[in-house]
Parts: sequence; structure tokens; C-alpha cells
Amino acid sequence: MIDKYNRKINYVRLSITDKCNFRCNYCMNEDAEFMKEIELLSLNEIEKLVKVLKDLEFKNIRLTGGEPTLRPDIIDISKIIQNYFGEFSITTNGSLMYLLAKDLKKNGLKNVNFSLDSLNRDTFAKITKRDDLNNVLNGLEKSLETGLNVKLNTVIQKRNFNEVFELIEFSAKHKLPIRFIELMPIGNNYNEDDFISEDTLKSKIEEKYSLIPYNKNFGVGPSKYYIIKELNSYIGFISAMTHNFCSSCNKIRIAANGDIYPCLAFDYHISIKNVIDNENLLKEKIKMAVLEKPQKHYLNELKKKTPMHKMGG
Ligand code: SAM
Ligand code: SF4
Repeated sequence: MIDKYNRKINYVRLSITDKCNFRCNYCMNEDAEFMKEIELLSLNEIEKLVKVLKDLEFKNIRLTGGEPTLRPDIIDISKIIQNYFGEFSITTNGSLMYLLAKDLKKNGLKNVNFSLDSLNRDTFAKITKRDDLNNVLNGLEKSLETGLNVKLNTVIQKRNFNEVFELIEFSAKHKLPIRFIELMPIGNNYNEDDFISEDTLKSKIEEKYSLIPYNKNFGVGPSKYYIIKELNSYIGFISAMTHNFCSSCNKIRIAANGDIYPCLAFDYHISIKNVIDNENLLKEKIKMAVLEKPQKHYLNELKKKTPMHKMGG
């Protein structure tokens, strides 16, 4: 589908739960509120939605959350997506991938984005509020053994800035592209003192390594890639705050309760749960969400209230 600003919208990020076993400082508090089970799209409703997304010529589907691997029927969900799309991607904190990688791969999982903000057990626990680094690293190993395409996502903040070389060298050792994400003022926890810009980060990296712009992408996301010459590895920057990529945005987000968010940076959403049994109305609502995508975000001026774990990060 083409939106009002001539962008091709063919990528959907589908959240299947807003719950999480972590509490990353920039995403949710210990006492975060979650949707009631009854509000979530059921397996049957997810199938109806996935069919319509395929009919509307969406090309790529990524499961997210909250933490998508917490959903007890994730294997059944993956089978449904495999039936319609053949393959799919997932964004995960990775803590349960040691249990799920093999079955998900069998059911069409191809690309996994692992969120990994620190390799230091204490810093990891301070950011996520859980002492779970070992499970994440086991999940990463299992995913690689299983043959999944893995990329690392690191939200860069003051508290992990001093680990940037360790993270880069780890990614190079495992031949995984690593992408650094700029912190966004989304949800209730944003603290601008934590913010590190792409330019600051790049200058630090260039004290040690040479970055050569790389024009290809490793997927359909907004990351801008470089080759690290000395390590022969890839690094990407996803910098919504300082290097806005709205003009090439290709996605909508669907929350676990079926609310469609045309843009990550606005609280505005369209509910589809009430029309999920009517294919025509469902299609109309999805088309409406695409048409209502704003031209660009205003995150530098306006704070966004709906947290990432609720709308689907
Ligand atoms: N739980 C999964 C995970 O952490 O990968 C999937 C959902 S999470 C909301 C998706 C991505 O959003 C993660 O890479 C996370 O680091 C990122 N994220 C969450 N809040 C953010 C924020 N305020 N600014 C930048 N990235 C954020
Ligand atoms: Fe959970 Fe992902 Fe949010 Fe961290 S970023 S609290 S892992 S949903």
C-alpha cells in the first residue's frame, strides 16, 4: 500500500504480548500495567489478521512485544505466519531463545534481532533489572547453531557507553551485525541525561576503528550501515532523534490487543478487535491506518506517552 507521502508500506510489526520478563530502564517500570488476557488477540483472531495482511500485500512480518517469546502459544502463532508468509522475523530480549530457537526455525522464523545492551553481568542486570545475561547468551548460541540470521540491537545510553568496544568486538567475533539505537523519549521513563547521539558514539568508535559507509541493508529496517575496516564486520545506527528516517518509513505497528499504531511517535491508534470477524471492515481499518501515517515524528518536541512494550517495539 502507498501512503499519503508516497511511501510503500509493506512491513508490519506485530506485538503478541505487552508483558515482559525484563524491566529495561528505558521501557518499563517494575509496576508496569499490562493488558488483560481477554483483551489480547486470540490465536484465531491473529490468523484472521495475518490472512488480511497477506491479502493487502504486506511483505514482511516481525513478531515483537513486550517479550514475544513469553506468549505460551508462540509456536502455534509461528505456524500460522508460516502458512501465509512462509517466513518471519522476531525482535526479542533472547532470554528464552535457548528453548525456542529450534521449533521457531522449523516454523518459518528466519531473522532474529537480539536486544543486548551489555555483556557485563552487573550492567546488564542494572539495565534490565534481571540477572539473566547467561540465558540471553545461551539463546544467542542456540540461535546461531540453529542457523537463524541474527543481528544485535543495543540501545546506547550513558550507562553502557563505556562498553561500546566490547560490544562491537563481540559482534565481530560472532560475525553478527550490531546496530546502535538512539534512546527515544517514549513511555514514562525517559531521562535525557541518559541520551547519547549517533555523532557522539561514532566519534568514540572512530578513535579506534575506521568506519566505511556500506550501502546495502541486512533487512527491511531503517539502520544505516558501515563496515568496520579493521574487524571486517558490520555496524548500524538507528538514530530516530538525530538522523530522522521518516521519509523511508515502510511500517505499521499492531499492538497485542489489535490496536494499530500508524507511527511509533504518536499515541494515535485504530482499534481492529471489534471488526476482526469482518474481513472487509478489517481491511478498511488497516488501509485507514496506512493513510493516517504522519509525514514525520515530532519526538524532539513532543513526548510520546504510550510505552514501546504496549504498542509493540
Ligand atoms: N522485548 C523485545 C526486545 O527487547 O527486543 C521486543 C520489544 S522491545 C520494546 C523492542 C526494541 O525496542 C528493543 O530493541 C528495545 O531496546 C527498544 N526500545 C524500547 N524502548 C526504547 C526507547 N525508549 N528508545 C529506544 N529504543 C527502545
Ligand atoms: Fe522487555 Fe524489550 Fe521492554 Fe526490555 S525493551 S523491558 S526486554 S519489552
